[in-house]
Amino acid sequence: MNVLDSELVVAALRRTGWEMAKTSADADAIFYNTCSVRQHAEDKIYSALGRIRLAKQERPGLVVGVLGCMAQKDQALIRKRAPWVDLVVGPGQLHQVPALVDGILAGGGPRLEVSLGRKAGSRDTVARSFESYDPDRDPTMRPTPFQAFVRTQTGCDKFCAFCVVPQVRGPEQARPPEAILAETHKLVAEGCREITLIGQTVNSYRWTEGDRTTRLADLLAQLDGVPGLDRIRFVTNYPRDMTNDLIAAVRDLPKVCHSLHVPAQHGSDTVLARMKRGYTIGEYMEMLGRVREALPHAAVTSDFIVGFCGETDAEFQLALDLVQTADFKTSFIFKYSPRPGTKAFERQADDVPEAIKKVRLQLLMEAQADVSLAGNLSFVGTRQQVLVEGPSVWEEKRESAPSPSGMAQLTGRTACDRIVVFDGPPRLIGRLIDTNITSASAWTLTGVVADGLADAVPLDALETEGSLPTERVPSSEQSGQPPVRSTQLYTQQLYDIALASTALPSQPSVPPGV
Ligand code: SAH
Repeated sequence: MNVLDSELVVAALRRTGWEMAKTSADADAIFYNTCSVRQHAEDKIYSALGRIRLAKQERPGLVVGVLGCMAQKDQALIRKRAPWVDLVVGPGQLHQVPALVDGILAGGGPRLEVSLGRKAGSRDTVARSFESYDPDRDPTMRPTPFQAFVRTQTGCDKFCAFCVVPQVRGPEQARPPEAILAETHKLVAEGCREITLIGQTVNSYRWTEGDRTTRLADLLAQLDGVPGLDRIRFVTNYPRDMTNDLIAAVRDLPKVCHSLHVPAQHGSDTVLARMKRGYTIGEYMEMLGRVREALPHAAVTSDFIVGFCGETDAEFQLALDLVQTADFKTSFIFKYSPRPGTKAFERQADDVPEAIKKVRLQLLMEAQADVSLAGNLSFVGTRQQVLVEGPSVWEEKRESAPSPSGMAQLTGRTACDRIVVFDGPPRLIGRLIDTNITSASAWTLTGVVADGLADAVPLDALETEGSLPTERVPSSEQSGQPPVRSTQLYTQQLYDIALASTALPSQPSVPPGV
């Protein structure tokens, strides 16, 4: 979600004459797009703000902004702790950034723009204070030009006891299906082949107009008809909203990937009840059974929180049992981090010692690694279609010159979201190709390009050689977990969006969305 927000803010700034700076030392404005899901994410921002203090002293004209969830959560506290910050803008006001920067450059002083708190008025009043934001996209800001996130909803109404998202992203509000479809057509026209629909609970999507209701299954059917689009993914799913029509849509629509992120969060009914997740493990397993029956080869992934308030050894053992039996392709596992403003923070003690949280994190990660390895090994000897994403992390870091044969180590992703590493010419980037899988680790598959395609002389004049898009690798707070791009949604997002003005600050800003 933050990757998408960053793309939209940069696109809006570019339209008003700003350009990306090469380094923060060249920048006239520096923005931090923030996450408040865990304390660790916030600590990183406050230390980054500490580091920028000197630059601000030396160059008082530098604009420093804090955007996103932490801005909404901490509001004036940010300027209290870091008075050199000029701009604090919540997720519901991001469209105002260009105009706010203009105001600051014109001498208007610091600005704080955030939405109402969840208890500050009626649901509608609060919802209106989180203004929708659907401006133009910017292909250069995407992880790759041929993959894009598309928002289906903003906000969240689930109120899980541990989670701050409903507070900082506001009430759940769906975008009209026409807007989602139009945006997808536009993205495809720009060269996009894969879209990932994103909502905090994407499968709760519901849009009613007159007597017609569009749910996620209907939306997928409409998107499946978009010519030129190859793959459709969607994250994140709420277990209780995994309805049969949605499972059938995934089974029957050719472009929808058989890859489902449905976080269980825990394996114990008593912990799930304290977390206010709204389901029991029996209900979760019933849902998983329906998924496995309709989609036997689907990759199902989960999130887990260890060390939640009052978690006993026996309860933790149930989480371990679930990981060992549910056959998740991957799990993202987090230590519980108390969040002010949540029910758990107000009413339940964070009483699991840090040392025990650490041990449980390690144990669950190891259990998942064993399951992931066994799952990946079953792919050895098979043929898998991948969308080639770009050079591997190893290729990007290697110091020796690229191989004279023009081969590079590339990575692609299967429809079930497995990363395949293989050697091939960069002209394959952005294409769907087949690979034969030769070996596997817990996190990646290794393969060779099938049918000699890697060595073939490119006849297609439209193919362009050489330009390797650079891949941004997200930071992961979980050491030992793979640097997969899908973790971007679940780990700290720290984007130093450094911008240098190439236009006069007085240039009028274009209203976003117009
Ligand atoms: N609606 C999104 C939530 C995003 S937060 C979703 O369901 O995925 C992503 C993950 O972070 C959650 O699934 C949960 O496992 C974890 N998380 C959320 N709040 C947390 C907290 N207070 N401490 C630790 N992990 C948390």
